[in-house]
Amino acid sequence: MLHVVVVGGGPAGLIAAEATARAGIKTTLIERAPERNRPCAGLLSSTFLEEFQVPELLLAQKVQEIALCSPTQRMAFVNLSGVNRWAGVIRRELLTTLFRRRAEEAGVTFMHGTFMRFRHADGDYPLLEVRLPGGEREQLQADVVIGADGVHSRVARAIRLPALELGVVYQERYGYPEGAKAPDGMQLHLGRKVSTDTFAWSLPEGDQLLLGVATATKYGRRVWDMLGELKKRLGSQLDGAKPLGREAFCYPRAAREKLAHDRVLLVGDAAGLVAPGVLDGLYYACKSAQLAAAAVVRHQHVPLPERLAEYEQDWKQEYGELFAAHARMEKTFFGADREREALVDMAWDRDVQRVAVEAYLTKKRFTLPFRLKLRMKTRMVSQLVKYRVINPKKLETDMVARAMPAPRNYLDLALETPDELACVVPEATQHVEI
Ligand SMILES: Cc1cc2nc3c(=O)[nH]c(=O)nc-3n(C[C@H](O)[C@H](O)[C@H](O)COP(=O)(O)OP(=O)(O)OC[C@H]3O[C@@H](n4cnc5c(N)ncnc54)[C@H](O)[C@@H]3O)c2cc1C
Repeated sequence: MLHVVVVGGGPAGLIAAEATARAGIKTTLIERAPERNRPCAGLLSSTFLEEFQVPELLLAQKVQEIALCSPTQRMAFVNLSGVNRWAGVIRRELLTTLFRRRAEEAGVTFMHGTFMRFRHADGDYPLLEVRLPGGEREQLQADVVIGADGVHSRVARAIRLPALELGVVYQERYGYPEGAKAPDGMQLHLGRKVSTDTFAWSLPEGDQLLLGVATATKYGRRVWDMLGELKKRLGSQLDGAKPLGREAFCYPRAAREKLAHDRVLLVGDAAGLVAPGVLDGLYYACKSAQLAAAAVVRHQHVPLPERLAEYEQDWKQEYGELFAAHARMEKTFFGADREREALVDMAWDRDVQRVAVEAYLTKKRFTLPFRLKLRMKTRMVSQLVKYRVINPKKLETDMVARAMPAPRNYLDLALETPDELACVVPEATQHVEI
């Protein structure tokens, strides 16, 4: 009987394991820290809830509108509910508990341990070495391995793949005293001062407020300044709020070229599948897991590598273009502050909003009518010309990068020891007093 081993019990691993187990395949899931949850803002689209059957009542918050704030603090308000869909915020622990329960019901065997490396086995079949919590080692024979072990994937390293290009997210969580209300809208802040090359946010989560900054790891040591700038922008919205904890974690900034390697299929963050420029990872983690599991189920009787590789083709066919479009958008608009200003100007346009929101919420490719496409392109070019050529000086001060000395803290530690990141940071961040 076919034996599938899934490494990693995050959303991707749990979805993949549940799918193979439901198809009657013997499935083992290895997770090194089942009781710990890694940091995540938990922003999801209603499409995610529908497709992965997550009950709405698990949401801490519904998000109907996003305020997009430019480097010079001009705002555009993007309505998320116009297409009868919306976004929501879920606590990460609730999502993994739900998916884990379903995987258990489907018959997945859970193993508490850390995947260490592959050992040579007879023929082509992977033999996994797992370190158990007590330190002893156990070996596990698999026919197919699904690597869902996150951004620092050991599975990927064990098959000698290069490390992913990384970004870092730094978040602080604030609580409001009884009677006081956390601001209820989500804000995305653009500008080099708040995030050198991505964005920063304030996101309500029930009675708490999450402040976050995402940036490439090379700017990671300046996230303190960036967060300080974000707090300055929020001003009185933080009045009365008490810091509850802080967390930092890495995310992949570009997808791997190849997702299927012999009998090893990489999914989720391990494959780098976070949509560029929007930090949208949960949906693609779960979708890639579904597609990988479907390929395994289809070919369970003859699981030859070339057949399993259909997973990669399916992924590229479904989401390749969307990821390329996100990467283009990131390149066009997140380079300099004048381009970010242009982005906010564009967001005032109702059609631009509709297309962007539709793409974010539905994750579907769609062809735009020619006239609309032309109008959007013209608007984009005119905005870029306006900020690049006609008015390039105005934002110059924003574009001067400041080199700040780095304070010694757990974020430094996290950046220096990426392999331990998943262990070190969440522990330090489960609502630690600042
Ligand atoms: C701070 C932050 C905020 C984010 N916010 C959002 C958001 O709002 N919305 C969104 O869609 N995406 C968000 N993302 C991205 C999203 O969290 C990830 O894309 C998603 O969690 C990926 O899921 P995964 O299952 O692939 O990996 P992970 O969730 O990282 O799970 C990997 C699992 O593998 C386990 N593991 C690792 N190594 C081993 C090993 N050797 N042996 C056994 N187990 C192992 C880990 O313990 C972990 O449980 C955010 C990312 C960050 C960093």
